Amino acid sequence: MEKTPKYRRVLLKVSGEALMGDQAFGIDGPTVERIASDIKEATLLGVQICLVVGGGNIFRGLSGAAKGIERATGDYMGMLATVMNALALQAVLERAGLTTRVQSAIPMRTVCEPYIRRRAIRHMEKGRAVVFAGGTGNPFFTTDTAAALRATEMGCDAMLKATQVDGVYSADPKIDPAAERYDKLSYHEVLTRDLKVMDASAISLSRENKIPIVVFSIKEKGMLSSVLIGQGRYTLISE
Ligand code: UDP
Repeated sequence: MEKTPKYRRVLLKVSGEALMGDQAFGIDGPTVERIASDIKEATLLGVQICLVVGGGNIFRGLSGAAKGIERATGDYMGMLATVMNALALQAVLERAGLTTRVQSAIPMRTVCEPYIRRRAIRHMEKGRAVVFAGGTGNPFFTTDTAAALRATEMGCDAMLKATQVDGVYSADPKIDPAAERYDKLSYHEVLTRDLKVMDASAISLSRENKIPIVVFSIKEKGMLSSVLIGQGRYTLISE
C-alpha cells in the first residue's frame, strides 16, 4: 500500500467529547491512549502534527450560564478545562513515545508554554507535537474556531476534525437513520445547509484561508493515518 502522506503539516481538532469514551464526563484513560497511539502512528508517516483540544467533557460556558454563572466567566472556566485535557493528552502522547509541547492561549507559565506562533512552528519543525490549549483565549468563541485559527497561523495544509462518526451527515445519524452522508462538501454548502459539523465562524475562517477540513471518525483505530494518506472514510470540505 502506498504510504505517501497527502499533507505535510496538519492540525487535528480533538473535542472534549472524544476523550470521554463511553463515560458521561471527564477523561477515559483507554480512549485517550488509543487516540495517542493513532497520533503516534500518524507522525511515523512524516506528517507534522499540532492539536487543538476541546473542553466540553469537563465544562462548557453555556452550561455554566444555565446555572447562573455569567457567560464570559463560564467561558473562561471552559477554556481552563481545555488546559486539563491538553495536559492529559500530553502525558499520554509522551508515554506513546512522542515529544510534545503544550501552549496555552491563556498564559499559565508554571504549567505550560504560552502560545507563541513562531515557537510553535519551530517545535513542529523539530518533530514535536504541539497541543494548543485555552481555545482562542477569548470568551464567546469555541475550540472549533481556535482550531481554524491555529491551522491558519501554523500554515497547515488541512484541518482534521475528529468526530464520533465517519463524516458529515444531513442530520445526526445516531438519531435519524435516514440521514444522508456526504463525501464532499463546499464551505458554502456547510454554511447554507446549516450542517452541524463545526460552528460557522470556524467554517468561514477556513474558507477565507483556503484550509480544507477533513471530517473523520476518531473511534476507528488507524483511521487518522488512513485519512492522511488519502484513504479511509471521511468527508472533505473545501472550495
Ligand atoms: N471556550 C471559549 N473560547 C474559546 C474556546 C472555548 O470561551 O476560544 C469555552 C466555551 O465556554 C466552551 C468551552 O470553552 O464551551 C469548551 O470548549 P468547546 O465547547 O469548544 O469544546 P469541545 O466541544 O470541542 O469539547
